Amino acid sequence: MTEFIWFLYLLLIAGVMIALVRVWGLSGSKKKRPLKRTCPLCGSTLTQNQSLLASEIRKNQHESELKIKGCPYCYQRVTDG
Ligand SMILES: [Zn+2]
Repeated sequence: MTEFIWFLYLLLIAGVMIALVRVWGLSGSKKKRPLKRTCPLCGSTLTQNQSLLASEIRKNQHESELKIKGCPYCYQRVTDG
């Protein structure tokens, strides 16, 4: 019977270890994530305040496609010209 208790104890420790590693891993990846973003159309580097212009095209009830129109740099160029 004591073996079973030991097994449960080890299982509990393993669970706590996995939970801790997950928490550390998530917080670590958040810090490492680069803030710099680039426009896929023109390659301009966008700041936190600048966002990509995109429109959602709904194909049907379940499917929708996100169409990227551009960033403030290249989208304005298209509308002006
Ligand atoms: Zn752009």
